[in-house]
Amino acid sequence: MYKRVILKVSGEFLAGEQGYGIDPETALRLARSIVEALDGTGVELSIVIGGGNLWRGARNGSGMDAATADYIGMLGTVMNAMALQDAMEQAGQPTRVMSAIQMAAVAEPYIRRRAMRHLEKGRVVIFGGGNGAPFFTTDTTATLRALEIGAEVVLMAKNSVDGVYDSDPRKNGSAKRYDQLTHQDVVDQRLEVMDATAITLCMDRGLDIVVFDIFEPGNLRRLFHGERVGTLIH
Ligand code: UDP
Repeated sequence: MYKRVILKVSGEFLAGEQGYGIDPETALRLARSIVEALDGTGVELSIVIGGGNLWRGARNGSGMDAATADYIGMLGTVMNAMALQDAMEQAGQPTRVMSAIQMAAVAEPYIRRRAMRHLEKGRVVIFGGGNGAPFFTTDTTATLRALEIGAEVVLMAKNSVDGVYDSDPRKNGSAKRYDQLTHQDVVDQRLEVMDATAITLCMDRGLDIVVFDIFEPGNLRRLFHGERVGTLIH
């Protein structure tokens, strides 16, 4: 059984049929599945949420100043964090949103020791605002926060992909899924797990990663119990 874990969910998981924005019903479905999986396990859970459903930062090719575009992206993740908090609390789970960018009216500032205190008290902590610095992604936030608060694993939630494959399983019917990889394998083969900065940090610090399908019923609960699901990077 894991004691403390970080779950990384992409902003897209909050978008409904339209594929962008925040759909409260979709957020509630996601929140319910997380709360049900967590129920009674005693696992201390924090969630890092991305912002891809609202804004693509410096990658939107608009010619906008890259740092400014990234700051807008970070603000988007705070909106997502608030939406996920609302949904998690509707599902009965006490939560706290902590933002890396100070926004005192809507979120606590990120303070490492306070985050750990919330976890000890059984609250799910949702980290918004990324790292608070441009030129990063929320994959690096998940890694950084995991290392800071002593999480044992980063759970990289995917939608309808149940692990890491040697090629895209949606395009190649004979794509092979890996049960386990090393961080070096991921780097050498440029496998799509997390961005290069994030995977390098995990490798340097020996932090485990699991890539799994969050929408497959039972997966998250099995992971919380320490069972093997998806692909383990160790
Ligand atoms: N971002 C950033 N610094 C961070 C985290 C995020 O600048 O530490 C910005 C960046 O522009 C990124 C956007 O926030 O594109 C949304 O995050 P991400 O792309 O990781 O979201 P996801 O794809 O997981 O939904």
